[in-house]
Amino acid sequence: MEKVAIIGSGCAGLTAALYAARANLQPLVLTGRHPGGLLTTTTVVENFPGFPEGIDGYELMVRLQKQAERFGARVQFGTVENVDLSGQPFHLVVDGETIDAETIIIASGAGHRHLELESEIKLENKGVTYCATCDGALPMFRNQALAVVGGGDSACEEAMYLTRFGSIVYLIHRRDSLRASKIMAERTLAHSKIKPIWDSIVTDVMDVSQGKVTGVRVKNVKTNIERVLECSGVFVAIGHTPNTQIFKGLIDMDEQGYIVPKRGTATNVPGVFVAGDCSDRVYRQAVTAAGLGCAAAIEAERFLAARNE
Ligand code: NAP
Repeated sequence: MEKVAIIGSGCAGLTAALYAARANLQPLVLTGRHPGGLLTTTTVVENFPGFPEGIDGYELMVRLQKQAERFGARVQFGTVENVDLSGQPFHLVVDGETIDAETIIIASGAGHRHLELESEIKLENKGVTYCATCDGALPMFRNQALAVVGGGDSACEEAMYLTRFGSIVYLIHRRDSLRASKIMAERTLAHSKIKPIWDSIVTDVMDVSQGKVTGVRVKNVKTNIERVLECSGVFVAIGHTPNTQIFKGLIDMDEQGYIVPKRGTATNVPGVFVAGDCSDRVYRQAVTAAGLGCAAAIEAERFLAARNE
């Protein structure tokens, strides 16, 4: 029987693990499909406190895992397929095996949002990708025109990263100003290789018949004029959707699937807590996820203490 099972191994999950481990609760962390979470796919994290020169996202997560393990956290590679929260103990089905737990911290994060185009799906991994850090250096993208879709910090980060490889990077955004933080937006727009394509949406990724990306059809939403931008890669960076499907109908969530805590990190099910991007549609920062992970672990510890009084 686990005292604390933590679903997810991003900033929220591993910080919860660190705090729960230091409370002597030997938490079990279930990594999900992407150990370390989305931060492992970013380049330099410049805004995590304590790293004045910035820190590589992957390295930050490796360090955080080591720190949690040092105090007794156990990290198990696995994906939670099903949960039974109808009574104590809770049951989690992880890759076919059932795990019982007295408390659960949901820190399942969020996944990349898609453009929802048929051609996008057909050309995924054939030039369409959701992670420049993971794929940008591939030979197929070198010295080629590339397109990034989105206007937030992620899109700017992807575009900046891709300037290392591409001959030109189109930044296609549906409005005429970036949503990204001021510093990121200024840096991005000042780069000589980045060409913003304002007020535009992607209506098609070409060419499905060739089985590779040769360009994108974009439509200016103000003029309705369509044109084709030739490019060899499309990097979609239009935000995220929370990884909460398995909790649907069990844990209170909003219409987009973000878990809505009842109070602090407590959910509608006593003993189940939530932290990080799967419940945060506002801040979505590494440091806020870490803070919520800490809070959830403290709440889980208090819940267990109260039960055993
Ligand atoms: P985001 O801030 O939600 O931005 C998503 C962007 O995609 C927006 O510009 C949005 O357009 C656009 N978009 C959404 N759906 C679209 C669609 N269907 N078609 C076309 N465009 C669409 O997401 P994010 O950039 O991934 O950032 C998420 C959070 O992580 C933010 O809080 C961000 O600050 C943080 N982050 C920080 C860093 C850093 O500090 N180093 C790096 C990456 C991310 P609209 O603007 O019109 O809504």
